[in-house]
Amino acid sequence: MHYSITPYKLAAHLFKVTCSIPNPDIEGQVVSLPAWIPGSYMIREFAKNIVTISASCEGQAVPLTKTDKSTWRADRCEGTLDIEYQVYAWDLSVRSAHMDTRHAYFNGTSVFLKAHGKDELPVTVDILAPSEGTAKEWRVATSMTMAGATQWEFGRYSANSYDELIDHPVEIGEFELASFEVSGTPHHVVISGKHNTDTVRLCKDLKEICEAEIAFFGELPSMDRYVFLVWVVGDGYGGLEHRESCSLICSRGDLPWPGMGELTDGYKSFLGLCSHEYFHTWNVKRIKPAGFIPYELSSESYTRQLWAFEGITSYYDDLILARSGRISSKEYLTLLARTSTRVWMGKGRASQSVADSSFDAWTKFYKQDENAPNAIVSYYTKGSLIALALDITIRQLSCDTQSLDTLMCRLWLEYGKQGIGVPEGEIERIAADVAGQSLDVFFDSYLYGTDDLPLEELLAYVGVAFSLRAPLSEGDKGGSATDAASSAYCDLGMRTVSDSMGVKVANIFSGGAAEKGGLSSGDIIIAVDALKVTKSGFDDLLRQYSPGDQMTIHGFRRDELIEFSVCLEESERNRVELTFISDADEQTIARREDWLKSEMV
Ligand code: ZN
Repeated sequence: MHYSITPYKLAAHLFKVTCSIPNPDIEGQVVSLPAWIPGSYMIREFAKNIVTISASCEGQAVPLTKTDKSTWRADRCEGTLDIEYQVYAWDLSVRSAHMDTRHAYFNGTSVFLKAHGKDELPVTVDILAPSEGTAKEWRVATSMTMAGATQWEFGRYSANSYDELIDHPVEIGEFELASFEVSGTPHHVVISGKHNTDTVRLCKDLKEICEAEIAFFGELPSMDRYVFLVWVVGDGYGGLEHRESCSLICSRGDLPWPGMGELTDGYKSFLGLCSHEYFHTWNVKRIKPAGFIPYELSSESYTRQLWAFEGITSYYDDLILARSGRISSKEYLTLLARTSTRVWMGKGRASQSVADSSFDAWTKFYKQDENAPNAIVSYYTKGSLIALALDITIRQLSCDTQSLDTLMCRLWLEYGKQGIGVPEGEIERIAADVAGQSLDVFFDSYLYGTDDLPLEELLAYVGVAFSLRAPLSEGDKGGSATDAASSAYCDLGMRTVSDSMGVKVANIFSGGAAEKGGLSSGDIIIAVDALKVTKSGFDDLLRQYSPGDQMTIHGFRRDELIEFSVCLEESERNRVELTFISDADEQTIARREDWLKSEMV
């Protein structure tokens, strides 16, 4: 199989792609484009971006018939079947393809047709330079194997199969390059977009994180190099994992700049994202659900295991920042308190189990609407707390001889490294084996059921005090309360955003004062007790009221003015605060140090 891809008309966002299929199927060769990309569980219908397509064989045109939304069948022909098509690329995300006069980026799932019956064949790809003069300094960054191309240059690359071909995103443009080595393997950071990054500091931090994760699993899977593709924008956040690389999108202010002092919250969050995607190198790219081997990319692929692949990865992403010394233990507790707060603020945790959230990711988690906070639980955040609870439970039951670390290493050695998929329920079985007793009640309650995790009791085992407090403002993310003067804040039970006329209701939380008063998402609040409101003054306004007070709200629903009468209530205690227990005994402190892999200072 051979492909070529050219950034063809930059301003029109069009790639030109060719696909050559030797010995096409004698019944008529079928080709299709995936409907989704591994790691992002939503049907995206990439074929909708193919704007023209034609086929030929030995110079003769071959008719192509479209048989469904993503599939074409070529008429019978003898010789090599050549298909040429153009793909529109204007999706500013890590999941598809994007091109303009300044760079080009693509995932194979968006651009490379699969030739049915030939997806196990080795593949070569010519990544070709655009002809436009503005792009003459452009280079190529990808983890794909070079097969003639020099590193960072246009030319020929190769993959062992179609599956491998689509797992190497490609960035083309004038990017900045920084490198470091871990485990004898070169690691590269490719930064695109306007930025002013202290790459020396970034590489130093990333190296520590990568080393900690390699030490965790005992080895880095064999690869020529690992590539972090980083896309810098004004405001953005996201990442997608691949076998030998990851694609990241981040806000400009999140990267470290020359002369930056302490780690900013934004940089911690960027390092957490890198830590997360790198952990996926093992957990989900190699230790993967049996249902994902091979990936069925034409329609939804269901699994109840995303709590393990995303939740456990989310648990370790921040924990490894602490274990590798990037953040202090105290800073780690703040991050953990914020994650816990997101879980406790979500009403949907009472409606949906994490296992169901995983199964229904396609239509619920990835298609969130205004009611999502009431209907959906995140397999990332609650999944990470299940991982934390499981870690401490295993430590307790095994008298501190085993932990979730042991479980992950077993999954790597017995499944990931062997290329064997993990059957549904297997992780629970191995967890029980590691713990030395059945964990059915644990999983039935917290994974398949909707019970809240008993973190107060569990965290005490490692010397951490868990408590719930009332919010101090709508945007209160949890963690230690520093603004005691604000304690009188009355939470209406909704999330709001700024609007030119006042305050717009983004979400109404079920059972709260706003819902009881009849407010709905989309309403625009213009006045409270006959005074104009603004988003910036809204929290302060609510602090002037007490539980039991009546409030008259005027607002627009569509173009109709409506008056609402809202009775204020005591705020729900849903912000999580975590602190180290200062008088913990020696044994507890030893457990805490083993958990955080660091000595308390
Ligand atoms: Zn992830």
